[in-house]
Amino acid sequence: MGGSHMRTRRLRDAAGVAVVLCTLTTIWGCSPPPRTPPVARAPEPVFRRGPEAPAPVAEPADVAAAPVGGVVVAGPPAPPPPPPPRPRPAPPRHEPDIRVRIAELDPGAAARVGARGQRLRVGIARMASDGTPPTEGAHALSGPVELALGPAGWTARDAAGMRAAWPADVAQLHVTAASGPSQVEWDGITWPGDMRLVRMPSGGMDVVMDVPMETYLPGVVAKELYGSWDLDTYKAQAIAARSYAVVEDDRWSERRHYDVVAGEQSQAWIGATQNPTALQAVRETRGMVLVHDGLVVPAYYSSACGGRPATARGAITDNPHHAIAPISTGDGSARSGCCERTKVATWTASVPAAKVAERLRAWGRSNWRPDVAAIESISAVKPASRNAAGRTVTFTLTTPKGDVTVGAEELRTAINAARDRATSIRSSDCTITLSRGTMEFAGRGFGHGAGMCQHGAQEMARRGTGWTEILARYYPQSRVETAWR
Ligand SMILES: [Zn+2]
Repeated sequence: MGGSHMRTRRLRDAAGVAVVLCTLTTIWGCSPPPRTPPVARAPEPVFRRGPEAPAPVAEPADVAAAPVGGVVVAGPPAPPPPPPPRPRPAPPRHEPDIRVRIAELDPGAAARVGARGQRLRVGIARMASDGTPPTEGAHALSGPVELALGPAGWTARDAAGMRAAWPADVAQLHVTAASGPSQVEWDGITWPGDMRLVRMPSGGMDVVMDVPMETYLPGVVAKELYGSWDLDTYKAQAIAARSYAVVEDDRWSERRHYDVVAGEQSQAWIGATQNPTALQAVRETRGMVLVHDGLVVPAYYSSACGGRPATARGAITDNPHHAIAPISTGDGSARSGCCERTKVATWTASVPAAKVAERLRAWGRSNWRPDVAAIESISAVKPASRNAAGRTVTFTLTTPKGDVTVGAEELRTAINAARDRATSIRSSDCTITLSRGTMEFAGRGFGHGAGMCQHGAQEMARRGTGWTEILARYYPQSRVETAWR
């Protein structure tokens, strides 16, 4: 078991360095300027939502080719073609590491890492041909260590006044516990695993934890569910979260310096946890993943479906390999006996229409949707299409320049991007009425609605239903397979 951990981790380190070194080449001009953005910042065109929304390329107003003096002036170049949609992975035979981005630091910001008195090793990551872990440039320092990145390179100053420095061309620093459990404290939280600080093209840094999957999962399940919920809900959640993470791990391994973020865009993570139900649920489902046609299911889940589930393809992903029965329950019919009696079954919200228009313009600019970016104002909104379960799939917005159709989840993403709880909406399954410049929303459920409904799963567990039946209901035609032991 331990041996397989180490082997997987070393290979992953090498892959991570490879990605970051590509980025550095583009920064320092060691090779001709690339035609596409650095790998670490490559947009992910397959998914509509996610941690890496496509970067704004140009003001959409410039997109249309304008005839000038008989010569057609082309607009800016189109975004690079998307990589081919990635098939789902086979179940891994050994426990993989997952790379979790826990923070993004602005240029000039220092990272303060390590608990008081904790001995840390801080060192350069260099790719070795045999995959051995890097030791070059390593320093033993006492926490908390203040690590800063500037034009002259990296500097560290520890609690005892020790100083260390690394040159400007170092792509990332590894921070590991010198003794005791593999964990590093950051921002008042203990994070299991080894830490990497990765230089970003902006001059800031990403804080990434490299952690074995089974060590990662308890902090996911503990954060995703209420403490009072049943063990069977926790077990179903552990298997869904493990399956999702395996797919993300495979999807990003060669393309980015992290697989998931700690947050809503991937799955929540509180780092190390003592929650006994979460620890037991992960331990007793060790290595278990959901499989369909021999390949792992990207087991999306959300808080409450409101009785009308979404289909992942369309709501979350455009990847045709994800058009599979376990995450397409919205293609069937409405659910009953799910979450309809819980406190999150229905909701209302009010958002000024001008604010909605402003957020849609911002979303349109960063998602290559000139029609949405050009919305000046909105005078009416109506559902344009629904899925077989009755859930809203698209809305039509009436604007001064004509009707604009947007995906329901795109509308929710745009509105909620402001991260203002008072003017956000809980789901995209809603009716919208416009009155005196305010949009009044009345909706059902909480979250995207694809895959497992967490409140519905807990309703089943509360009535005595086991985790295998919970998974069978929310991921039909999938089965549970133990990928590693
Ligand atoms: Zn539900």
